[in-house]
Amino acid sequence: MKSWASVAIPPLQKGFRMPPLRIFDTAAQQISEVEIKSLYRMYVCGITPYDATHLGHANTYLTFDLLHRYLLAIGAKVKFVENITDIDDPLLERANRDGVNWRDLATLQIDLFRSDMVALHILPPDHYIGAVDSINLVVNAISTLDSAGSVYKNENDLYFKVNSDPNFGSRSHLQHNQMLKIFSERGGDPDREGKQDPLDALLWLAQRPGEPGWESKYGIGRPGWHIECCAIALNYLDIDASSATSIDFQCGGSDLIFPHHEMSAAQSKIINKKEFASHYVHAGMIGLDGEKMSKSKGNLVLVSQLLLEGIDAMVIRTALLQHHYRSDHMWHNSELDQARLFLDELRLCLSRPDVAPTDITIEVVISSLSEDLNTPAALSALQNWIEATNKGETGGNPGELSRAIDALLGIAI
Ligand code: ZN
Repeated sequence: MKSWASVAIPPLQKGFRMPPLRIFDTAAQQISEVEIKSLYRMYVCGITPYDATHLGHANTYLTFDLLHRYLLAIGAKVKFVENITDIDDPLLERANRDGVNWRDLATLQIDLFRSDMVALHILPPDHYIGAVDSINLVVNAISTLDSAGSVYKNENDLYFKVNSDPNFGSRSHLQHNQMLKIFSERGGDPDREGKQDPLDALLWLAQRPGEPGWESKYGIGRPGWHIECCAIALNYLDIDASSATSIDFQCGGSDLIFPHHEMSAAQSKIINKKEFASHYVHAGMIGLDGEKMSKSKGNLVLVSQLLLEGIDAMVIRTALLQHHYRSDHMWHNSELDQARLFLDELRLCLSRPDVAPTDITIEVVISSLSEDLNTPAALSALQNWIEATNKGETGGNPGELSRAIDALLGIAI
């Protein structure tokens, strides 16, 4: 799958001290310091392409873009892989509902997603991988699980035995009854007959009448969602055998914590015989009119629609940065107005030859980001700098601040 256009990152001119990143880890249930390394492996769960990028998606990909940018700024390399679930029940259901071919729907939405990512200055993944192109990888991963005794057949479908991972549940921290409820709400089938444990997850779905399927040694069918991400991450991130975990960061929206990330991590642990990720990082949900923004509820604010209305993509980015990435919050269009005012003032001040001191501002932006990607604190430092500049303080370097804002926050001035 083609990734999207790369985004240039200006270098930070001075040798600013970059503190180690501290970030909230869902599995550890606390903020943890990220070990200093020369190379990080980051996997971000991508969209199912049946509705274009809404602000909840934008917030998720923006969060991991900030993480990506911080790791680059400390001088590390980042291997970044993202998937796209281009075959799954919701895509087929939407295509059927709208009377369109599922492949055409996916292609259209993937193109829209790519252009939204470019507009929002999200750094592209090194590998952007579709499920349809990963059938062999998935089948191989299932085969490894099978050899480990973690797979069983139910009619012609294959299931993963969740109890084959003794640490199952350790990443999501839910009670068993909560797991059952959420599993059922998010595509799981706890009540299906023939399952050994209600939480066992589908690995391979035998072809149903009227649905697509791919040849495999397990018959014609299609992959389950969790094994798709597990197989893609383990294959494309070039796992380092000497590392204690398979990858450094497993990333996605907080609605993926369970079952998706718990299942992918459990499957990966059986396959690779070590914990999947060093850090499980999740972005909060954005709601509208009192409810989570989601395709099923139809309460979406689409990035492409805002762009069509002439809203500057950097205003959208700034509006999202006004909230901490982990906070769930309700979206109001007035946030765009606030972001526009802020950005207009910032750009005006950065265009002046004499500006307030910038080194201290850049240092506060860096330290704010190092502490669990605290973007509200970073923007507040910029607001203070605007006010100091407007009061006539001098001695700063506007070019340097502009480059730091671009490199670290991804806001092109
Ligand atoms: Zn995923």
